[in-house]
Amino acid sequence: MGAVPVRIVPRRGFIQTDTHHLRSDACSFCRSLPSILNLPFYQNLTALIHGACCDQMRRMTETLANISKVPVFLYGAPRTYGADSLYFLNEMRSAFEKTAAELSITIDESLLPARIKVRNRLKERVFELRTAGLLSTALLHQIAASLLPPEKLIEFLDNLESDNTGSTKVPVMLAGSIPGVWELKVMEESGAHIKADATCMGDRVFQHRVDENIDPWTALYQSYIEDNDCPHRRPMNRLIRYMQELAGEREVQGVIYRSLKFCHPWGLSAERMRKELNLPFLRIDDDLSSPAVETFRTRVGAFVEMLNG
Ligand code: SF4
Repeated sequence: MGAVPVRIVPRRGFIQTDTHHLRSDACSFCRSLPSILNLPFYQNLTALIHGACCDQMRRMTETLANISKVPVFLYGAPRTYGADSLYFLNEMRSAFEKTAAELSITIDESLLPARIKVRNRLKERVFELRTAGLLSTALLHQIAASLLPPEKLIEFLDNLESDNTGSTKVPVMLAGSIPGVWELKVMEESGAHIKADATCMGDRVFQHRVDENIDPWTALYQSYIEDNDCPHRRPMNRLIRYMQELAGEREVQGVIYRSLKFCHPWGLSAERMRKELNLPFLRIDDDLSSPAVETFRTRVGAFVEMLNG
């Protein structure tokens, strides 16, 4: 489509002002989306396209369709692994086709293989640097949410000598809902080094390459939807296995499990994760709308102290 994909995440300057569109028992990320979209960063969007992952995201997207100044497109994504892939592939494809039609632009399918190749290269580069411990989680999040083209990000990463600031800190895994704008800094200041990140801004984003040898639409569906180990997928065994392997490879000593209040996919899985990851485990329920920074700092600090001990 020649479009620039921009991921909607909490960004610097975000202050929650506009939460009344969803009931108070919706997760605070979904409730914050209207405020996030008011940031100057998002003022030039021409359309919003959302896969319906968890139910709260679906509700929020339907609400945005009523209040947004730009057209909104929603496609259903399967909750269960191995569900009717043809149906969900068509859902995804038709959402992009409707977006293109609404914006009067054409999808040039002949460009897809080259775009898939370059994005795969970016994922490989990120994976290499993370495995070697040369790319911090803060920078990883910036890359996951960047609007720069993948070619520029690869060039940047190829010139990056090392961004590892954690060698003297306690290595931990971060898991849970999408982070806000201050949590990583507080964790690092408290002596934790986020060596593995299972949130949807972290290592998981760069986990799957897209198959370059099959039909591009099918390959995109397979990688971004069917193979997406999002916590809303069932059964959760795949996500848990991925997290166990990641924790082992990165040799983390504990897990900081930060779920947003009323996030069902992460919140309801916390006890199972605690048992199956079998590592020291700090669970924090947080709320993007009223960040309790000092409480968060105290709890993470005490956890790091316990791990050091
Ligand atoms: S997974 Fe949790 S935090 Fe993320 S959108 Fe869904 S309910 Fe909100």
